[in-house]
Amino acid sequence: RAEQAARYDAFFEGTVDPDRLTARVPVASEAAAYLSDPHSSPDPDDCAPAAPSGERRAGLVSLVGAGPGDAGLLTIRGRQRLLRADAVVYDRLAATALPTDLPARVELHCVGKQANRHPVPQEEISALLLRLARGGKRVVRLKGGDPFVFGRGGEEAEHLARAGIRFEIVPGVTAGVAVPAYAGVPVTHRREAARVSFLTAHEATKSSGSRQRWDLLAADRHATIVGYMGVTVLGQVVEHLLAAGMDPATPSVMVHQGTTSRQQVVRSPVAGLPDAVARANLTPPGLFVIGPTVRHAEHLDWFGTRPLMGERLVLVAPAGGLGEELDLLGAELVEVPLPMTPAPRVVIDALPVTGCVFRSVEEVDAMDEERDRAAWDPGVVAWCRDDRVAERARELGWRSVEVFDTAESLLAAPPSGCAAKLLSDNRTRC
Ligand code: SAH
Repeated sequence: RAEQAARYDAFFEGTVDPDRLTARVPVASEAAAYLSDPHSSPDPDDCAPAAPSGERRAGLVSLVGAGPGDAGLLTIRGRQRLLRADAVVYDRLAATALPTDLPARVELHCVGKQANRHPVPQEEISALLLRLARGGKRVVRLKGGDPFVFGRGGEEAEHLARAGIRFEIVPGVTAGVAVPAYAGVPVTHRREAARVSFLTAHEATKSSGSRQRWDLLAADRHATIVGYMGVTVLGQVVEHLLAAGMDPATPSVMVHQGTTSRQQVVRSPVAGLPDAVARANLTPPGLFVIGPTVRHAEHLDWFGTRPLMGERLVLVAPAGGLGEELDLLGAELVEVPLPMTPAPRVVIDALPVTGCVFRSVEEVDAMDEERDRAAWDPGVVAWCRDDRVAERARELGWRSVEVFDTAESLLAAPPSGCAAKLLSDNRTRC
């Protein structure tokens, strides 16, 4: 009991600032004092490597890039690390990439900004990673895009390195390359763009001391500018570039939620881009591209023009050939196991669903609870394989019920309810 009391004391002292009576993040040695085996002594030095433990497996943190949103753009290694993890700490932008077949035993920690909630502060994220790894867990820190491109992945890795936690980096497909590709923009092009700059638009808000060289960017005509975090500060970015002499007719584009069923694209000569983006009511996350290669989007818009673009369909696994066809027609698929597990629920909730595909009465019954849980819009369509399945869906209160035969029959049926709304929202704008 005395030992237990000492541990509680150590926990309390490590997490509460006694002078201000506010919560604080424990330093590594403090956390070690209450997380470690009570019979071994805590780390003497905050910066020393975690004590090699004989009995307990050493923890490992994999900083994994989730890709830009389309779940298919997660790397093979990223997927492998996720499936073997004990715990996954993920950002909101990474949620769509969680494998829907993630074992139910994997702990899920969301640390991203969510509606009505503040994002978890960076030091708390780092403390969580440390705590999980010190407990001997295999941890995946899942971050949108690539972990080392504007994602504070470098800071998290340094924190782990300083604490002596074993870690690795699994790069991801950064939004800066994939999002332009899904909007039909090659970021380089022979003769047109010999360089690409990835920049954070936040620097545009600084009246002095900006680390962005607007002068060089504006003067560089054979180059592409790719801007992250720029929806709300786009006006200032464009002002800086025009003031530094950029040609106002330079082609440019803003892409909202690229690579997903919610992708929206606004193209304009750079001088008019801020107004065009405001008129289209685009919100973050958005990525902009400025440069001569943007003009190719007119002919290369392969993604936004696919017939089922805008549809986000939930389908019971295995989706098989039907899933493949729907995917090729441009629908975003969320393939879920039955019974349901936590990870697919996170994926379902990450973006609006437009329909649910049912091949049997059992599937309709099994998904009923999920429909209530996720509070789907009444316009969500129940796509049913035959009349019997459709009848069951109506019995259970689905308002929009359509019978389909092949994947193509989804094209023939008029999109109803929220599907139609999402489709019209998703039309490429020029
Ligand atoms: N590490 C990430 C970037 C994190 S910063 C990466 O490599 O992609 C977050 C910014 O990335 C957002 O503000 C937005 O500018 C951009 N972004 C990420 N995903 C996006 C998406 N699907 N569509 C448009 N922009 C995206």
